[in-house]
Amino acid sequence: MLVGFHLSIRRGFTGAIDSAEALGINAVQIFSHNASSWRMRPIEPAAAASFRGRLRRSSVEYAVVHTMYLLNLASPDDALFARSAAALTEEIARAGALGIPRVVTHLGAHMGAGREAGISRIIDGLERVIGSDAFARYPFVNLLLENTAGAGTTMGRWFAELGGIISGLSDSTRIGVCLDTCHAFAAGYDLRSPEGLEETLSEFDRKIGLSRLELVHLNDSVHPMGSCRDRHAHIGRGEIGEEGIAGIVNHPVLCDLPFVLETPKLLDGKLDADPINLRKIRALRRE
Ligand SMILES: [Zn+2]
Ligand SMILES: [Zn+2]
Repeated sequence: MLVGFHLSIRRGFTGAIDSAEALGINAVQIFSHNASSWRMRPIEPAAAASFRGRLRRSSVEYAVVHTMYLLNLASPDDALFARSAAALTEEIARAGALGIPRVVTHLGAHMGAGREAGISRIIDGLERVIGSDAFARYPFVNLLLENTAGAGTTMGRWFAELGGIISGLSDSTRIGVCLDTCHAFAAGYDLRSPEGLEETLSEFDRKIGLSRLELVHLNDSVHPMGSCRDRHAHIGRGEIGEEGIAGIVNHPVLCDLPFVLETPKLLDGKLDADPINLRKIRALRRE
């Protein structure tokens, strides 16, 4: 089973690999810089090369870069839009330099311009990325679009929106999708029962195509179905619940995909939660 966590790069990129090995996981997600700042300190070629070596020799089989939170490809503001497309391109280049073959990103919010305007804006932004030198320079890097809980004017709540964006691209060969279970549930997709999961996956297949699904962000949800509120809960301790999570990790369509947890790092305000969530997942998995 490919399973892991979003891990901190506080102790550098290789520090995240050290943490992964200490936890005994084979999948890792990192930010390539401080996710709430536009500033990206350049990655020195020597540091990049040593990280690539460390990653190759490690137990990590699946690595992914998550883009920063400030990106808004749907922004009606021209300056923010251009800055977002440029930053996403830079994220691709950074992942490429680190030898990490995929980048996952949120799409942003239309800020009142409307869903249709948001979709065409995102398509324009992604076209800039796909047409960039960095995208050509690192042909092994894929870009994954993530669904959202749908708070405010955020884009990507509905699978139809993601499907519409992907089908609007001139070339979508290197575009995939990340399904965040907390976001999908908060958006209104029922993941608590086998029937709900079946219905959700068939909707995903109709609107996007299951062949695009490359990554699962496995998070339980603090808030109820359809609440549009994005707050991740510990595995089995949220509204999706143990049975729902068990259905997800054992489903034939999903079981071979990587599961990356973005669960809170503390349990009851003190315990180191990662090993606890990991044990829970492994207990729910029927190998
Ligand atoms: Zn996520
Ligand atoms: Zn979230």
